Amino acid sequence: MGKTTLVNSLDPTLTLRTGEISKVHEQGKHTTTFAEMHSLASGGYIIDTPGIRAFGVIDLEKEHMAHYFPEMRNLIGACRFHNCLHLNEPNCAVKAAVEKDEISFSRYQSYLDLMYEDPSDPHRRKTFA
Ligand SMILES: [Zn+2]
Repeated sequence: MGKTTLVNSLDPTLTLRTGEISKVHEQGKHTTTFAEMHSLASGGYIIDTPGIRAFGVIDLEKEHMAHYFPEMRNLIGACRFHNCLHLNEPNCAVKAAVEKDEISFSRYQSYLDLMYEDPSDPHRRKTFA
């Protein structure tokens, strides 16, 4: 799905506005290398960030990361350790659910990416076998 399609589904008037901005850039032979923030009719904002491949997660404590994954949040109390990070702990309900396909592996991979994220190198992506 293209960016325009996504933006259109969020706010059809936005495509028009971003199109106008792009036209101005073309005329001025200006390449968009900065982030643009557009307000949405439904409330909130969308940020267009050309050339940025990764975002760091700021101010999220790793101990609470699983709370941001609804399918994991429901299982947190079922882990053996109350402070389980769902990485290598024994009797982890989250890892058990991933093994049983109750939590999709790609979601767990995203969780791992966030847990192992190195703030000093936001482009590095570790892989887990
Ligand atoms: Zn766990």
